[in-house]
Amino acid sequence: MNLPKKVIHFAWKAAKDMLASKEALRQRHIVVEDGCALCGAPTENILHILWFCAHAKEVWSSSKFSLPFEVGPNWSFLDVMVKLQRSEELRPGLMERFVFVCWGIWKERNVIRTRGRCKLGRITLKNAIGLMDEYQMTNEGPARPATVGPELRKVGLGVLIRDSAGNVITAMSWPLVGPLGALEMEAKAVEIGMRFALDVGIQDAVFESDALEIVNAIQGIVAPCSSILLIVEGIHQLACLFRSCCFSHTKRQGNIPAHILAQFSSSLVSYVAWLETCPSHIEQACFQDISVAPIS
Ligand SMILES: [Zn+2]
Repeated sequence: MNLPKKVIHFAWKAAKDMLASKEALRQRHIVVEDGCALCGAPTENILHILWFCAHAKEVWSSSKFSLPFEVGPNWSFLDVMVKLQRSEELRPGLMERFVFVCWGIWKERNVIRTRGRCKLGRITLKNAIGLMDEYQMTNEGPARPATVGPELRKVGLGVLIRDSAGNVITAMSWPLVGPLGALEMEAKAVEIGMRFALDVGIQDAVFESDALEIVNAIQGIVAPCSSILLIVEGIHQLACLFRSCCFSHTKRQGNIPAHILAQFSSSLVSYVAWLETCPSHIEQACFQDISVAPIS
């Protein structure tokens, strides 16, 4: 998604349920009066503020914006984002517009609460969309021509699982093809590696990736950019399935066998896995890797 950092940060907090809605404050045992101050609804959670509240409805109804699905009363912001991501192929850019307008509604809601004045819904909408267009023009140049379908990208994924002595337990080469950006593919690679590790019964794992941004996002050092938000969410859920699980960044030169496996996948149409044996084309690199940097 092509959005300013502050809007991405907003979306991240909304998806993690970290915005200060009254419901969230009560869950943190901070006493606040019940209900939505703007429309009097009994519960004020994030999706109420951004979608169901009379104020939000006024904003959305003043646009031609429509979601390709019905938002359920008990949904979270993350539920909406997951659905939107699935719709992205059919309605490219819809998620960006949705997030930007939500950010506008959130900002306006905070102004109303502190100053009591309220812009008309269509003004809030116009300001939010205007800021989005301005941002995208300055960060992207002229609008990209509409594409017929999503751009498919192929990246090679190499997964190598070794025991604490560095011996290869299992290895995999996977040609990953999808309508995803480079960063999303890197995040997806970690997720696939984790699933693979679970499939072969690994309980304690250290996952290494050469994508520093991904590792930092997983570790919570930086807010994940919105395009990988959901994948990082999935990675956190998968991490709970291990007895112990941590992530570390390694330079590509630091994991040559996995890099060879990734390159090897370019000649494949589907994935190949080696169980309890070291593929011959990485044997030498594995041996060198162990002698240079033993895993403790
Ligand atoms: Zn309300």
